[in-house]
Amino acid sequence: MGKNIILTGDRPTGRLHLGHYVGSLKRRVELQNSGEYDEINILIADDQALTDNADNPGKIRDNIVNVVLDYLSVGIDPAKTTICVQSALPALHALTFYYLNMVTTARLSRNPTVKAEIQMRGFADEGLPAGFFVYPVSQAADITAFDATVVPVGEDQLPMLEQTREIVERFNKIYGKTLVLPKAMIPENETQRRLPGVDGKAKMSKSLGNCIYLSDTAKTVKKQVNGKMFTDPQHLQISDPGHIEGNVVFTYLDAFCTDDDFARFLPDYKNLEEMKEHYMRGGLGDGVCKKFLINVLEETLTPIRDERAKWEADIDSVYDIIQEGTARAIEKTNETLARVRKAMRIDYFEDRSIVGEWNELLRKAKQ
Ligand code: ATP
Ligand code: MG
Repeated sequence: MGKNIILTGDRPTGRLHLGHYVGSLKRRVELQNSGEYDEINILIADDQALTDNADNPGKIRDNIVNVVLDYLSVGIDPAKTTICVQSALPALHALTFYYLNMVTTARLSRNPTVKAEIQMRGFADEGLPAGFFVYPVSQAADITAFDATVVPVGEDQLPMLEQTREIVERFNKIYGKTLVLPKAMIPENETQRRLPGVDGKAKMSKSLGNCIYLSDTAKTVKKQVNGKMFTDPQHLQISDPGHIEGNVVFTYLDAFCTDDDFARFLPDYKNLEEMKEHYMRGGLGDGVCKKFLINVLEETLTPIRDERAKWEADIDSVYDIIQEGTARAIEKTNETLARVRKAMRIDYFEDRSIVGEWNELLRKAKQ
């Protein structure tokens, strides 16, 4: 039987936020600690981040440490999980170049996530960097280089997994079974698959500036929830009936709160259903809801913040962790590249067997 291998990653374009936490990080830690996986790899996708930040490499360089600190503070354990840096893995560049021949530009143009990102970044008017256009192909290289079977991600990544699977199938069809076919793993809880921003926009995203970061102080979290969080604009008086749909406070409660939280912080209700009913009936104010949400979020965020503070005091160790992880990943991805080159029969310098082939070719030509 094949191994169970995980690969996930993040772009070092900023600190990680609650969307990353519920969409992917929390699951990574659970999978890491489940003991069911032979290998867990996390890739800091700095090359991918450069595809839309080529003019600002300093931002990417600076954020590598932030992303690693976020990993360590949520419970990623470097003894169990390999954390590595994409740009230091030359095999990924080579694989990307070969996989580019496995896709058409028409197929790449249909990727709905990339389409939305092109709009959001204004590339439709300014011109689209070719590297950004093809980044799903480089993601296929990342995933297959580690022989990943499972990729835990948020919903926006499903088109990337579909693209990867098509590349794998096409490659294996042409060159013989070489690459492992991966599967996406997305959260069961619908809200967790794509957490909206505090402003109510469809996705909490570094690029949209609508985030609560895992490293935000308690004061900032309070300010974001009380000052910025979108609720129900029609709910003017406490006695007015309120709406749950599109109300970010309730969306976040859907993603984060448990029945235990009610017992601890809001014993007037047994569970979220009861609280929602009261809100819809009228008589429950936004202030109470927000206060409860802050308590719920703090329960997740306080231990993360504490752990982060410990690692922040020891950046030398953080450096060692990614250096060691990257060294392991170089080996692993080079092995995959060698297998791919062999399947493609471009492994000319592994041995001198091609000399015999060439001699034979020349002998036949002379006959
Ligand atoms: P950028 O704006 O630079 O693209 P991002 O906030 O979209 O940043 P990524 O590094 O692109 O973050 O995404 C990393 C992982 O986190 C992916 O698996 C993605 O699906 C997941 N993710 C990101 N934002 C959310 C969200 N709001 N809800 C659920 N999952 C998310
Ligand atoms: Mg993104």
